[in-house]
Amino acid sequence: KSALVIDQEEYLREIQKGSRLHLAKAITFVESTVSDQQAIGQQLLKSLLSHTGNSIRIGITGVPGAGKSTFIEAFGMMLCDLGYRVAVLAIDPSSTLTGGSILGDKTRMEELARHPNAFIRPSPTAGTLGGVHKKSRETMLLCEAAGYDIILVETVGVGQSETIVRGMVDFFLLLALTGAGDELQGMKKGIMELADAIVVNKADGANEKLAKKTVAEYKQILHFLAPSSPYWNTPALAVSSLYKSGLDSVWETILIFKKEMIEQNAWQYRRKEQTVDWFNSMIVDRLYRDFFSSVEKKETMAQLESLVRDEKVTVSQAVEELFSSNSKQ
Ligand code: GDP
Repeated sequence: KSALVIDQEEYLREIQKGSRLHLAKAITFVESTVSDQQAIGQQLLKSLLSHTGNSIRIGITGVPGAGKSTFIEAFGMMLCDLGYRVAVLAIDPSSTLTGGSILGDKTRMEELARHPNAFIRPSPTAGTLGGVHKKSRETMLLCEAAGYDIILVETVGVGQSETIVRGMVDFFLLLALTGAGDELQGMKKGIMELADAIVVNKADGANEKLAKKTVAEYKQILHFLAPSSPYWNTPALAVSSLYKSGLDSVWETILIFKKEMIEQNAWQYRRKEQTVDWFNSMIVDRLYRDFFSSVEKKETMAQLESLVRDEKVTVSQAVEELFSSNSKQ
């Protein structure tokens, strides 16, 4: 079977010219699990790397129903109308994890998807955590190389997904609902400590007063928490994504954040640290995959598991055994 060949020069040229089609295809290569496609993706990424890094990377999290897609559409439209080019790494609505399939064929962010300045890429569902993927970072870099000024990375609070997204963006925004007190009962304090802003959504109609009260409550709570970014006091704001109010304040907050981080040399510093962390987590991933890639190792592990369960060996002994059986093979 002949190897897959593409016209790389054409891809590089078209991506930088803003061809959505070539960008989408390049992302598909990067996300592919087929090795020669993956190799093409990596080759393209490598050639484009010097054109990356010029965007503002914004992560957005919130429970299902918080209004993430409504917010991203309204916020994205505002930014596009200001002349920015906006790329969105969105949660795939067909993902069972987010309950999107229950909503059937509901198309998310339809209006934004049609805007000439916007590019929306739903995350693949396989192997994802709340819409993020180990390859999301590389997708983000491809979007930057394609000239997008602002990258919005959507996630939903599942497992490690929020930590992963915090680890790839400059600014992390928690979209919250009214009733901080109630919500906090169920919300991990840790999520608030990842956020650079808490944005209380649905501050409209009969809910507006409560939203303002919730903002005040969050402000009080934030006093006692460690900030997510150095030299930054995490603010709480109220918005209505539906009626498009308060969105300009969110953008203003992000611009102030960027200015202050740059002044403190924290902007580039964090990005470099994130790249190193990413490198380390890819190593762990790779080791894990390689280690369990053979059937024998899986069998050995299954045997050891039952020995551990029956208390025939200690856990440490079983781990020792697993690694020594690994080195023998
Ligand atoms: P997601 O699951 O976080 O993406 O939430 P959606 O964006 O799908 O929003 C969930 C529901 O809340 C939808 O019915 C939206 O119309 C509604 N919603 C979102 N933002 C607002 C808002 O600012 N005000 C009001 N009143 N409803 C909103």
